[in-house]
Amino acid sequence: MSSISHQYHPLGFNGSRIAQGFWRADEWGMTKQARLKFIEECMALGVTTFDHADIYGDYQCEGLFGDSLSLKSSLREGMQLVSKCGIKLKSAARPDHARYHYDVSFDHIIASVENSLSQLRTDYLDLLLLHRPTPLMDPDEVARAFEHLMIQGKVKQFGVSNFSAAQFDLLQSRVEVPLIVNQSEYSVLQTQSFVNGDIDHLHRHAVTPMAWSPFSGGRLFNGSQAQDIRVRAVLNEMVAQYEGASIDQLALAWLIKHPAKICPVMGSGKIERLALAVDACHINMLDEDWYGIWCASLNKDLE
Ligand code: NAP
Repeated sequence: MSSISHQYHPLGFNGSRIAQGFWRADEWGMTKQARLKFIEECMALGVTTFDHADIYGDYQCEGLFGDSLSLKSSLREGMQLVSKCGIKLKSAARPDHARYHYDVSFDHIIASVENSLSQLRTDYLDLLLLHRPTPLMDPDEVARAFEHLMIQGKVKQFGVSNFSAAQFDLLQSRVEVPLIVNQSEYSVLQTQSFVNGDIDHLHRHAVTPMAWSPFSGGRLFNGSQAQDIRVRAVLNEMVAQYEGASIDQLALAWLIKHPAKICPVMGSGKIERLALAVDACHINMLDEDWYGIWCASLNKDLE
């Protein structure tokens, strides 16, 4: 089992090469102690960046992580905590939300971060992301909230999630601090950002693309759409050529090969799957195979 000790992207986010997400943590059935063991095993593999959002697990997952971290708070220094705000779920945990909607007002950003800090049992976030773009975003108000959180030492760096290039530029035009991450769905099954200019835009500005759902939430393994079947078949054909690498490793090697240094955010709570992901960072996929997967995903040949 190898590890990835290097940090990367000197101009962007100083996190690990791949990150571990906690969206599904309430489904993992772990005790507080087992979750601590999982966090320590992630870190031993070199995966030190943990991805959260206020809303994960109906507002419960940050607290699950924080409960475990509180058992060994010395771990905090060696990890990077990412969280998000801006979505308001209709939830028993938030009875004041009349319906699902977005809110990136000054007051909501500040209140959400305060709550994330208390749930995660930490004094600061390494990275705060606006979870979704919204037509009602007032970029000057977001700028004010980011500045306030930075001056107070509550958030070190800032970014966005699911933003187009134009939405990113609008916010960056008003926010003084550099936006250093855009977290979106990039994978062998989700390729439009590679052709619509969004990834090129991030690359140009040395912004780290973080890839959520790198296996399309498991569709890569069990999906029945024509695209799933085509991509799975091509990956399976390549397994022998890459000395028995599994198809999940090849799907990650495909993402990691991109020169924009995409950081996959893994979603399984099984440490052996994360270990395979870490090993996949060492696979050097041939260009011809990268294009083979690309063509299978798009269902067309190169021009
Ligand atoms: P994912 O890795 O695409 O999907 C995880 C799912 O795939 C789990 O159900 C897992 O099952 C299954 N899986 C993984 N490896 C497998 C394998 N080898 N064989 C069969 N099944 C396998 O990632 P995700 O959980 O959808 O998302 C990852 C993270 O991205 C989240 O935790 C969250 O932090 C972030 N995220 C962000 C946004 C956003 O808008 N910013 C949106 C969604 C997610 P097991 O649990 O059984 O391993």
